[in-house]
Amino acid sequence: MAGLYLHIPFCESRCYYCDFYSSTYKGNRSLLLTSIEKELVDCKHYLKEPVRTIYLGGGTPSQLTLEELSTLLQTVYDNYDCAVVELTMEVNPEDLSADYLEGLKSLGVSRLSIGIQSFNDADLKRINRRHTAQKAIEMVRLAQQIGFDNISIDLIYGLPQQTLTGWKVNIQQAIDLNVQHISAYSLTFEEGTMLTKMRDRGEIQEADEEMSFEMFKLLRHTLSENGYVPYEISNFALPGYESKHNSSYWNYVPYLGVGPSAHSFDGQSRRWNVANSRLYISKMAEGDTYYNMETLDNFTRYNEYVMTGLRKKAGVDIAVLENLFGKDLKDYFLRMIDTYIKEGKVIKEEQHYYLSEEGIFISDYIIEELFWME
Ligand code: SF4
Repeated sequence: MAGLYLHIPFCESRCYYCDFYSSTYKGNRSLLLTSIEKELVDCKHYLKEPVRTIYLGGGTPSQLTLEELSTLLQTVYDNYDCAVVELTMEVNPEDLSADYLEGLKSLGVSRLSIGIQSFNDADLKRINRRHTAQKAIEMVRLAQQIGFDNISIDLIYGLPQQTLTGWKVNIQQAIDLNVQHISAYSLTFEEGTMLTKMRDRGEIQEADEEMSFEMFKLLRHTLSENGYVPYEISNFALPGYESKHNSSYWNYVPYLGVGPSAHSFDGQSRRWNVANSRLYISKMAEGDTYYNMETLDNFTRYNEYVMTGLRKKAGVDIAVLENLFGKDLKDYFLRMIDTYIKEGKVIKEEQHYYLSEEGIFISDYIIEELFWME
């Protein structure tokens, strides 16, 4: 089974923390959609297995009209062997209405991923989100009334001036909305974003590490007490509502990504499309190569396996690791992870190695230490 990702690179405005590829320029909209449809047709043989999950991400897919969405999805169904069990669409609360949500339902969207980030208007203003907290709450409720029973919301913690109490209110509001899935990310200052520029100019301050750790612990404890399982570092789901699409990324399932900046993986190699709509359109029109590609060697695949494995609740299965990458890399992994087990940052349970709460907070550091470096 395989996954299909469509990157819709339109945004009405740019959020200050975001480094995903998207543009507010609307002049090339129909050319871009035609190019995405062309890529869908051109790549119809990339996946060797039926499409089980479709994910419309971005950018802001809810900037598309229902007609545009219908055309894109029809292109998928006309060209791919589909056995779809999950069709997710990322949406912005400000784009939603009863008519639009009903339209999405009739197009087969089974899972909504609503970008909310905070239920505090001052937070939202500081990161340049378009919607208010009230609008976000109303749209979650409206989607539920219309019959969406698999809703995920995104939240960010460690925002400028955010307090522990403010974060607690956000978590409680998410729980009160009875959503099935919550993705919660610690704010990162990515190169080139507006927030990073503001920090470098001294206009805002980064949350200190201790505060971020407190927010993270509060998140995990409160969500666990309310039945949400932390099945991945940043993802919490009521049982049975884990994201099937994202889980397949973490489980090495092949996927095709179409649209500017989208990534693909066929089991052996990864490729990534040019992250520029104008170039993407012209390359598609001229039949030029519009992506870069890397064939993965055993060491790179080991590094990826360790990275995705340790981000999951189930952790790394040492028997699977040996089976996939051989005894030498298994011995290397065991040698490198020993310190973290002794420090209590990694827990070993039978053949599984997973991060403790303390370990999760410094997961990037631990994962990098476990990488094979040539
Ligand atoms: S967070 Fe989403 S809506 Fe905001 S700029 Fe990034 S892609 Fe666009």
